[in-house]
Amino acid sequence: MDKEKHDARLRFAFASFLSANGLRFTPERSHILKVVLTFSRTFGSVELWEACKADDSMRVSRATVFNSLPLLERAGILRRIAFDRTVSYEVIRQKLQLRARQHLVCSECGKVRRLQAPLLAEWVGCQPYRDFFPAPESAVLTVNGLCGKCRRKKSKKSK
Ligand SMILES: [Zn+2]
Repeated sequence: MDKEKHDARLRFAFASFLSANGLRFTPERSHILKVVLTFSRTFGSVELWEACKADDSMRVSRATVFNSLPLLERAGILRRIAFDRTVSYEVIRQKLQLRARQHLVCSECGKVRRLQAPLLAEWVGCQPYRDFFPAPESAVLTVNGLCGKCRRKKSKKSK
């Protein structure tokens, strides 16, 4: 994916995240995201604040910049790297390559149906445990219950 397309996708992701959490995609937040996306390596919060100041197309306060970082992290746009008492950030450029599946298991006959789980992959991708799991490989969601066949069998018996 070229950078422009990817940046547009990240803007959309941030806007969706904010609206899902009852927050506004303000011109200040949009500006901070624009500056964030100019970094091709890791950066610290002060470095980001300085880069925002250097771009004089808009004035944003230090507090606004610092408060945006956890939001960008929760939106799955930034990865927070805590190392040796310093915290830095990097833009998550690669879409997560995660094998996410769901297993539907019948608790009566044990039949299993295996399905893809794209929403589970999205969810894992934006979790704060990315420090521990920089590149999670797989996730499985198990759903237990009675399959259609066993349900029908049971309801016939109870009649
Ligand atoms: Zn069954």
